[in-house]
Amino acid sequence: MTPEADVLHRFEDRAAAQLRKKRLPLIIGRATDAREARRREAFGLVDAAGLRAAAEAVRAHTVANLPVYLDRFASNAEARGTRVFFASTAGDAVDYIRTVVADRGARLVAKGKSMAAEEIGLNHALEADGVDVVETDLGEYIVQMAGEPPSHITAPAVHKTRDEVARLFSARHGRSFPDDAEVLTAFAREVLREVFLRADIGISGVNFAIAETGSFVIVTNEGNGRMVTSLPRVHIALMGMERIVPSHRELALMLPMLVTSASGRPVTTYFSFINGPRLPDESDGPDEVHVVVLDNGRSKILGTEFQSILHCIRCGACQNVCPVYRQVGGHGYGAVYGGPIGAVLTPLLVGFERAGDLPHASSLCGACTEVCPVGIPLHEHLLALRREVAKADRPVVEITAFRVWSTAWRRARRYRFFVHLSRLGQRMLVRRNRIPRAPFPLSKWTRGRDLPPVARETFRERWERGLQDEGN
Ligand code: SF4
Repeated sequence: MTPEADVLHRFEDRAAAQLRKKRLPLIIGRATDAREARRREAFGLVDAAGLRAAAEAVRAHTVANLPVYLDRFASNAEARGTRVFFASTAGDAVDYIRTVVADRGARLVAKGKSMAAEEIGLNHALEADGVDVVETDLGEYIVQMAGEPPSHITAPAVHKTRDEVARLFSARHGRSFPDDAEVLTAFAREVLREVFLRADIGISGVNFAIAETGSFVIVTNEGNGRMVTSLPRVHIALMGMERIVPSHRELALMLPMLVTSASGRPVTTYFSFINGPRLPDESDGPDEVHVVVLDNGRSKILGTEFQSILHCIRCGACQNVCPVYRQVGGHGYGAVYGGPIGAVLTPLLVGFERAGDLPHASSLCGACTEVCPVGIPLHEHLLALRREVAKADRPVVEITAFRVWSTAWRRARRYRFFVHLSRLGQRMLVRRNRIPRAPFPLSKWTRGRDLPPVARETFRERWERGLQDEGN
């Protein structure tokens, strides 16, 4: 998905298309319920509130001092031989990576999971240069085969059933596969092993970069992160500029918070620490390591009331509990990041013109805020964004309509006249004391709900006719 094509202005249309997939909420619900139940159970065994407060403090401190920690990270990483490139825009990041890939004459890239790479449309750019890019995370491998973007931050193929995956494998590899997870996984492993061995370049995301040491950490369940970062001769890691921790001390808190919030498990299978290119006495590892630090709109969020959205550690817990996400899935949002995190982050990154309707993709129930391991007040951000969008994007028709409304209702006599007029006008529309279908512009409202009719009598009229007596 290219960054230009990834956001559709109308969430409504995308959501409607997703809602036609009747089994989708069931499939997503099953997967996200299991994760959420495990998460709740795991946090029930510890001082969850205390850990969350500590994690929130770490993220708030780090993001508030981002330039200091980024500088420290860059000088320590460079001292270890890593090349650090600061990319202001998606285009800068793509250009840099393309150049490295082209200069090394690379034809095959083994790619680890990276939401930042989705954000900048990296695969499309490299493929346009004739480079074969293979996703090596199993979920990403599946959605790549389907020609789709990921539907969830940590579970990209959450919207697919086993039989759908079996059909995909069969179509792609020209033989019939049973809907057996073990068989499918074993086959994917076989294919991907070849890719790891043959790839000229490995590209990965970054879960955390450590300012104190200039290293970075990748968290995976499947071990593909370790292969991608150690087998190809060149490694390129792409990180959002906020994905940094001051030292190992803070990392020791953030890693379990990430893993438990993402999967409900206390620990994941692989934590890979990349300290730089292979040293002369080391037996494996790449000869070259590049880290691309991506801004792409993040720095303009710094210092605003939305700064805490940069505390996000991409665990996906808010997606699991969001009643809107659970109905429409990640693709309903038409953006790289779906669910509550996406509904806040996307309009801030790409602008209200392109994603101003996403903050409305929420019931404001606050479940997202409750589960966020770093205490981001997601539902409050959604509300504040709606306010901002309304200020920035009110159509002239709406402004005029409210002006007329306010003029009409400001004086008692005018108010009474309009109430009388509405009562007359609604006669043809009222059915069983409701208005099920109103004319434009109120038709938008009645598309999803009934409109209550204007009362037969106003309070004043009842009062004048002797309301005092009614109450006695
Ligand atoms: S906003 Fe919070 S819950 Fe959602 S992905 Fe980010 S860290 Fe996780």
